[in-house]
Amino acid sequence: MKKIPDPVDLTRKLIAFETINPPGQERKCCRYLAGVLQEAGFRIDLYEFDAGRTNLVARALMGNDSLPICFTGHLDTVPLGSADWQVNPFAGEIIGDKLYGRGSSDMKSGVAAMVVAALRFIREAVGSPKITLVITAGEETGSQGARHLVGLENVLGKAVALVVAEPTANYPMVGHKGALWVEVRTSGVSAHGSMPDRGVNAIYKAVRLVDRLERFDFEASPHPVLGMPTLNVGTISGGANINSVPDFASIGVDIRTVPGLSNQVVLDRLTSLLGREADIRRLVDVGSVATDPSDPWIQRVWDITAPFLDEPPMAKGVTYFTDASFLTPAFGNPPTVILGPGEPTMAHKTDEFCYLAKIEEAVEIYLKIMNSGYP
Ligand SMILES: [Zn+2]
Repeated sequence: MKKIPDPVDLTRKLIAFETINPPGQERKCCRYLAGVLQEAGFRIDLYEFDAGRTNLVARALMGNDSLPICFTGHLDTVPLGSADWQVNPFAGEIIGDKLYGRGSSDMKSGVAAMVVAALRFIREAVGSPKITLVITAGEETGSQGARHLVGLENVLGKAVALVVAEPTANYPMVGHKGALWVEVRTSGVSAHGSMPDRGVNAIYKAVRLVDRLERFDFEASPHPVLGMPTLNVGTISGGANINSVPDFASIGVDIRTVPGLSNQVVLDRLTSLLGREADIRRLVDVGSVATDPSDPWIQRVWDITAPFLDEPPMAKGVTYFTDASFLTPAFGNPPTVILGPGEPTMAHKTDEFCYLAKIEEAVEIYLKIMNSGYP
């Protein structure tokens, strides 16, 4: 029987595959994992949405007709950033109790832990629930891989529960806000800056819209876990030079939504509030995710994770969004937990690291979740 890899070694292997997105190029990393899982008896399907951009779906215990528990993670990482690294970002260097490298926290440690747990599960499982691993490409640039899978017919099917192995330091998080990022453009008529009456000033129009945006009322009550939706004007630009009437201006708006308030409802309200002067373009549109903390499967996950935490889990959400925005609705809205060994504060940082112990603990937690099934 083949030896199951050590989860820290596997994380280091995954870090050594450079999968910075853009451009991504997750194929080699993805095929490597596909080989490991296939050898252990998983049924493997690969789905490419672009050259070198590969998603992997691995299924275990197909003979069993129950719905699977799904584990998901992404293989792409964000770029290295402009600051110099003190360690080689692809060497998977271990210093003391930490493993360094791009993707060590976000989220190759999470993927490695779920793969190792799955290998142990399939070797030991007797009459256990089915599991499915969905390993995606292109998450960091708007869940391209997950959206591709969701768009394919008869690929994902339904699931009873979803574990997203994004970095939470092994804290079981019950959701996250949605995001709706839009660009609002205004247009005008250019004229010489000495004769503004001959033109129409697009910046003046934009300023009036910004004023309305600042006073935007979501007419929502706070979500019990995720709180209030928010809106922030993050950028404004316009005009070509100081001595012309600007015929173009642009406002960047970051809206975070909570369950009970869909992105589409907010967009419709924004469209009617801003009126004809505004040309609204959607840049990012991902829904919120939240599971009732009293859900019996969430309670089971809390029981499993409690011994690994300083205090019993409480209902909390993460600040980022995840592939669950697409996968959870596609799976039929099963209970979803975001739970992974990475350090949330290390995601996207220079000299990113993950604690070695958290990777080992995540394997134990995932294996318990796999073995204890669905209530
Ligand atoms: Zn991530």
